[in-house]
Amino acid sequence: MLLLSTKHLSLLIIIFVIASQSSCLAAARSVPDLTSKQSHDIANKWRDIDDNFHSSQRGSIPELKKYFRRFGYLPLQDHYNVSDDTFDEPFKSAILNFQTKLGLPVNGKLDFDTVSLIMAPRCGVPDSETTHSMHARQSYVFFPGKPRWARDAPMKLTYAFSKDNFIDYLNISDIKAVFKRAFAKWASVIPVSFVETDDYGFADITIGFYSGDHGDGEPFDGVLGVLAHSFTPENGRFHLDAAERWAIDFRSEKSAVAVDLESVAIHEIGHLLGLSHSSVKGAVMYPTLKPRDKKLDLSLDDVNGVQALYGSNPNFSISSLLESDISANQAVDLTRIRSSSLLWATLILDVLSIIFCM
Ligand SMILES: [Zn+2]
Ligand SMILES: [Zn+2]
Repeated sequence: MLLLSTKHLSLLIIIFVIASQSSCLAAARSVPDLTSKQSHDIANKWRDIDDNFHSSQRGSIPELKKYFRRFGYLPLQDHYNVSDDTFDEPFKSAILNFQTKLGLPVNGKLDFDTVSLIMAPRCGVPDSETTHSMHARQSYVFFPGKPRWARDAPMKLTYAFSKDNFIDYLNISDIKAVFKRAFAKWASVIPVSFVETDDYGFADITIGFYSGDHGDGEPFDGVLGVLAHSFTPENGRFHLDAAERWAIDFRSEKSAVAVDLESVAIHEIGHLLGLSHSSVKGAVMYPTLKPRDKKLDLSLDDVNGVQALYGSNPNFSISSLLESDISANQAVDLTRIRSSSLLWATLILDVLSIIFCM
């Protein structure tokens, strides 16, 4: 069996980013019908990575350490050197914490599921430390200090779009409709309303599309990787990576690296309200989102979290949420989930193919 070294893993990540940034490559690719054997082969190849990770070639560890430091799993301080290629205790602890935080089996190994999530497009907000609560089934997380908007009831928050930082390949009224729906999702469960305003200077929440280093110390990284980020209450800044191929309707947007704008908007509004990342895979506050995937429904975990901050909307009904939760977890979305998983497996397969041809 062909074995991958850690050097190859490092290359894999780098090549994946390069491959992702090729719109020609992305546009030409269609969702394939992978056989179960092909999927099994991919899984085996990743297990080979894991099996050989403790070998003498550990060149990819610094890349992984940089990822873990970027997203809150390793200390930012200078005394921890991320360039060191040692599989040390802080690194192992970072893997364990990442697996816990992302709801994976916690084994401390760089297995297929773990590496897949490390490679997955995600929110740029670091994953906050999970604080265990009295409620055993709670997975939602607040930011340190539990910040929230403090306004008199009934609370009304205004939002505005940056005229200078926008994208031009989507209709502006369609984009505004997406954000209106995204805000309405949260407004339906808490006693907070969201109103668009043209007064950008005085809006509570400001929304714009930015490229690369845009002045807030959180530079965007091109296609995929980090998709967007937003800030905790009461900052209100909501930034999307202008380099993404943002999509409103996947029937007209065929790019393999297209990202669903509404799903990302709903997620980032959760941050703007004070929620950090959840370990529940079905929650909108889960930190990753695959290309062409959608996550539009608040889960019970999201609702419990935001209601712990703001209370419940008097018109909110837990039974309607449970019904939609159940239906969403049944057959309704299986086709979409399957095609999305196939697409992601194909992107990984493409990268593996490139490596095997080198
Ligand atoms: Zn996030
Ligand atoms: Zn920013």
